[in-house]
Amino acid sequence: MALSGLDIYKKLPKTNCGDCGVPTCLAFAMKLAQGQAELDTCPHVSEEAKSELMESSAPPIRSASIGLGEHAVKIGEETVMYRHEKRFENQTALALLLSDDMDDDEINKKLENITKIEFERIGLMLSADLVAIRATSDAAKFSALVEKVSKATEKGIILVSEDPAIMQAGLKVVADKKPLIYAATIDNWEKMAELAKANNCPLAIKGANLDEAADVSAKLTDAGYKELVIDSGARDIKGILADQVNSRRLALKKTFRPLGYPTIVFANEVSDDVAMQNMVASTLIAKYAGIVVLSELDAATLYPLMVERMNIFTDPQRPMTVEEGIYEVNNPTAESPVLVTTNFSLTYFILSSEVEGSRVPTWICIHDSEGLSVLTAWAAGKFVPENIAPFLKKSGIADKVNHKKLVIPGYVAQISGELEDEMGDWSVVVGPREAGDVPQFLKTWSPAGEKEESKV
Ligand code: SF4
Repeated sequence: MALSGLDIYKKLPKTNCGDCGVPTCLAFAMKLAQGQAELDTCPHVSEEAKSELMESSAPPIRSASIGLGEHAVKIGEETVMYRHEKRFENQTALALLLSDDMDDDEINKKLENITKIEFERIGLMLSADLVAIRATSDAAKFSALVEKVSKATEKGIILVSEDPAIMQAGLKVVADKKPLIYAATIDNWEKMAELAKANNCPLAIKGANLDEAADVSAKLTDAGYKELVIDSGARDIKGILADQVNSRRLALKKTFRPLGYPTIVFANEVSDDVAMQNMVASTLIAKYAGIVVLSELDAATLYPLMVERMNIFTDPQRPMTVEEGIYEVNNPTAESPVLVTTNFSLTYFILSSEVEGSRVPTWICIHDSEGLSVLTAWAAGKFVPENIAPFLKKSGIADKVNHKKLVIPGYVAQISGELEDEMGDWSVVVGPREAGDVPQFLKTWSPAGEKEESKV
């Protein structure tokens, strides 16, 4: 249970010295309880109180990090059941499974896929995150594949074996890359915990069911090991989904610490069919997998999966935005058209990619509408003549072109007259409603007049 302000206050020094920047210990305790202060800000709290308070203020689902540096993948640290309550914190990591019984051609092809398949969407690069390497026979074969993967990619690694001796062989090769050790079971957890501790690596637990996973988790937590990832053992979508929801609910609503860790699921063991694996992954990105392991990465199915993931893990309270300003597309000149729209990322990136595709040199003026899309921004008074005109006048666009024609989105045709009044000697042209129609518009209209193509 989270401690109340008064519970926290009882553990503070009660000297009201003010060194934490708050006048009294009680006020500091209240801030801590509300998550508005860090315990470290009080330099006088005893070590004993600190460890008690840290434990009670730990997130209901702890985090785990796989890999190091810029390629490190962080999972967990979730605090809500539903995204709209606050936000989901760390996106589900997607892992590709390699196995030491695969032939070289297959391994090479899969390694090429995981390094090459990536997409840019609204300014972000989307790609798979991890490589899971499964041992099927002996330590030598396993460690040879681990070495090959480690040399071929900087992605984080999951070592998959329940045999501590084989796991140790794999760790000898990549322990310095902080791989996830999979898995500690009811039979081997002590040896796996020793390996995880000795190599400072996160450790996954595999249970025969959720109860057994919680049991092993409690043993590991008692032994002082807390960077854990949980596999409930379910291998059918109904069972996996139930375990994901139940463990999230128990961790959040009942503060059940043994299940307060991120999870890993093996979509490849639910079905051999790649499309089905992607459907499983799609379900579990929404409900609440920390890692989903797939047997294949196929660009056509991976792209929608990663877009879904991006949408779910975007903070719903902070729309994604681009900076206000003038953007050049296709090397515009003084004769090029001038478009204006809002700074909602999706609006900008969809419009700019359509304009880019049209190959028509164009200026796009992006007005800060607090991340709202065109119609919403207009309705909220953020994309109206009173603020568009001052922005355009200050932006310097008038110095870049030799005409005074401004194209506005078709969805706000109603502001054209008022915007013309505000803009002085500029004339306002109503463009298409949909970005998809912009290329055709740009091919048939220019500030100098209609183009030949439109007269055909
Ligand atoms: S620094 Fe610590 S002891 Fe001093 S007022 Fe703040 S909480 Fe109390």
